[in-house]
Amino acid sequence: MNDVSNALESDPWQGWLQIANHLFQVRRFNEVLYEVVREIASRMEVRHCSIIFVDERKESAYVVATHETPEIKRIPLDLKKYPEVVQAVQVKEPVFIPNVSQSVMMVPFQEALQKLSIHSILVHPLIQGEKVLGNLILKISSSRALTTQQLQFSAWVSRLAGGAIRNAHHYEILIEERNQLERLAMIDFLTDTYNHRYFSARLEEEFNRAIRYNLSLSCILLDIDDFKWVNDTYGHRRGDTILREVASVVKGAIRKTDFLARYGGEEFVILLPQTDLSGAFREGERIRQVVRSHSYGETNQAKRITLSIGVATFPDKTIATIDDLIRAADAALYQAKRFGKDRTEVFVAPG
Ligand code: GH3
Ligand code: MG
Ligand code: MG
Repeated sequence: MNDVSNALESDPWQGWLQIANHLFQVRRFNEVLYEVVREIASRMEVRHCSIIFVDERKESAYVVATHETPEIKRIPLDLKKYPEVVQAVQVKEPVFIPNVSQSVMMVPFQEALQKLSIHSILVHPLIQGEKVLGNLILKISSSRALTTQQLQFSAWVSRLAGGAIRNAHHYEILIEERNQLERLAMIDFLTDTYNHRYFSARLEEEFNRAIRYNLSLSCILLDIDDFKWVNDTYGHRRGDTILREVASVVKGAIRKTDFLARYGGEEFVILLPQTDLSGAFREGERIRQVVRSHSYGETNQAKRITLSIGVATFPDKTIATIDDLIRAADAALYQAKRFGKDRTEVFVAPG
């Protein structure tokens, strides 16, 4: 007597309820698929149990779960070699081949199946509403006929799987949407850099870390030179495009550990953890050169897009708070503008 019969005879409801609960608790799509094949394989004497997705339009198919391993990538299949799957998809009903060597449909594959000691095949389409979501394939080596109970069990798991797969799919969409919302809440739409709100939170974190571990933290403020002129000359829409392009060029120029955000208007801010004033100055100069040598479509090459840059670093005798650090970078930026733009200035404490 096999496990299913055991479980069902000792406490039929308990065993089935356990499986149902389990399948609906698993959230991840791939985990649901694996749990379905694992449940079947652990409770029935199958040689092989897998789930196949069929793309009817593309006439392609791939294995998405197999009981041997929880970690499989989508493995493509040639549907011509699986007439039983094609039939199950078409009729949306289970297809049972009790003896492959007596099945006309399986003639071309009998030799191969015999080599694998496969005696019978059962395919359950996993249906939700009108849709076939996938197909559960059971390959059985025993020549003993499947019991009614086993057939009922696999049919029941397949029906349950349809619901569980859809459930997991909806859950994943929900998670994806939540991630997207979280992302939107911290990203500036136009420039695809972090926004001011997220920057403030990050600055507080980095500043506290710098105090606690006695590290330096640098801050770079960038302001595009004569951007009003850019808008007046090329139009506001083109101004937007240039602004986005500058952001992208800066993003490409900073180090992985640095953090870029739009500070407002045509100003950006970069946080450089564990970087001293001279390191931050070098980074500022590098960014300035990259931005000024980039070519922004059909802009006037005689008047390049340039940045003025202000750099400040904590610790410093006049920088004790977050506001001090920002104020210092802003003062340095002001100096850069005053000294003729297209340059980088570091903050020097007065006196
Ligand atoms: P300076 O070299 O002193 O920085 O001159 P500026 O013209 O860049 O500075 P000002 O502060 O006078 O003007 C900033 C301009 O940036 C004016 C504003 O319309 C433009 N600006 C700010 N945000 C955006 C934006 O999102 N899109 C576009 N196209 N322009 C923007
Ligand atoms: Mg400005
Ligand atoms: Mg400006």
